[in-house]
Amino acid sequence: MHVTIAGGGIGGLTTALCLHAKGVDVTVYEVVRAMEPLGVGINLLPHAVAVLGRLGLIEALAESGIETQELILFSKHGKEIWREPRGRHAGYPVPQYSIRRGVFQSLLLATATERLGAGSIRTGMGYRRHQAADDGLDIWFEDRTTGAQVGPIRTDCLIGADGIHSAVRRSFYPSEGPPRWSGAVLWRAAVETEPFLSGASMIMAGHADQKLVAYPISEAARRRGRSLTNWIAELRLGRPGAPPPTRESWSKPGRFEDFMPRFQDWTFDWLDFPALAAMTPQTFEFPMVDRDPVAAWSFGRATLLGDAAHPMYPVGSNGASQAILDAEALAVCMGGADGDVEGALKAYEAERLPMTAALVAANRKQGPEEVMQIVETRAPNGFERLEDVISRGELEAIAAKYKQIAGFDPASVSKVAQSAD
Ligand SMILES: Cc1cc2nc3c(=O)[nH]c(=O)nc-3n(C[C@H](O)[C@H](O)[C@H](O)COP(=O)(O)OP(=O)(O)OC[C@H]3O[C@@H](n4cnc5c(N)ncnc54)[C@H](O)[C@@H]3O)c2cc1C
Repeated sequence: MHVTIAGGGIGGLTTALCLHAKGVDVTVYEVVRAMEPLGVGINLLPHAVAVLGRLGLIEALAESGIETQELILFSKHGKEIWREPRGRHAGYPVPQYSIRRGVFQSLLLATATERLGAGSIRTGMGYRRHQAADDGLDIWFEDRTTGAQVGPIRTDCLIGADGIHSAVRRSFYPSEGPPRWSGAVLWRAAVETEPFLSGASMIMAGHADQKLVAYPISEAARRRGRSLTNWIAELRLGRPGAPPPTRESWSKPGRFEDFMPRFQDWTFDWLDFPALAAMTPQTFEFPMVDRDPVAAWSFGRATLLGDAAHPMYPVGSNGASQAILDAEALAVCMGGADGDVEGALKAYEAERLPMTAALVAANRKQGPEEVMQIVETRAPNGFERLEDVISRGELEAIAAKYKQIAGFDPASVSKVAQSAD
């Protein structure tokens, strides 16, 4: 059995490793010619870390990422709304990590290159089209160096892990159009600073129209008594569904003057955001976009995975984690396929599509961050006593419900941590 993966991002490379572990022959085709460590911070939630643990990556993750200790939600005035321990600090059998995306992707790339062989990761090759063939599938790529069409390449199965602008998805849904904008723009950055709070805390402050997120992402910096702090400033500038101001790109430089005036007084006793921003040399601007869930991912011997399958708002720290969960689910289905590729892809879809579609919907309602908007709506001028604004029961119910939808409630994680077979 030979599987072809279009896209060498976090989803594609994790899928390659999971399939390889099941004895499946895999080739990854990535459009970018030289894969560079791009992006700022991402979170790996415990259920995804359990998958990475089975791939033997825990030590490397612990070496480079921060083991997240707690999540704290604050109002726009910096007053605490909710605090919960995370990962092993919350009693999970596996940690949660906050890590630089590029570092994590480089780890996956190095591991995949070592285990699959360098010839199995082909860069500078963009997926163009595929068609069913006798007992398989033919695929054509474009060689980005020469512009030449490469193919047909015969394979047993195609996985479209080619991100939010997936060309494989477009082949299934040609009239879908661009991603849908939430109306919010994110400015992301990472900068070395003094540690804040526990040194392993993730914070969110504000509400649906204006938010700040910050968390440390480097264990090496922590060991030196410093914090490589990932931060995101978010502003709502348009209405949901309006065309985004720019086509989203993960490397578009942002301008401080576009958002800092609104954050000028966000100086709290636990973090001085204007000072943090003033130390930061560069930000990246990214409109918050997703796509409506589709009815099917698997068509014959081809399927979708990760952001190609279920792009979602970066709320609740789920994008990379869900791609990793897809990877293992797909490998388990393929491993037990006994030659029935189409059946395996449909089984994978049945397991993963409904839950990720529910997550896309939950993230549109701000996921666990919904409590911040509830507090803003009920007490826009601030509060003395939180319990006059929102009850402990309401806070707990919202946090628990989101964990269940995203599959990282304690019971689900314990199950995932035990075995994937
Ligand atoms: C450069 C970059 C930086 C990012 N930075 C952040 C960040 O800072 N914080 C964050 O939370 N999330 C970030 N993300 C998104 C995050 O990594 C994903 O949401 C998540 O990990 C899901 O991964 P994925 O593999 O499904 O998609 P992606 O990570 O988007 O990977 C898709 C891959 O497919 C490749 N590709 C695209 N088209 C084709 C084609 N036609 N043929 C072959 N290959 C193709 C892309 O080059 C890319 O490597 C970033 C993504 C990218 C691509």
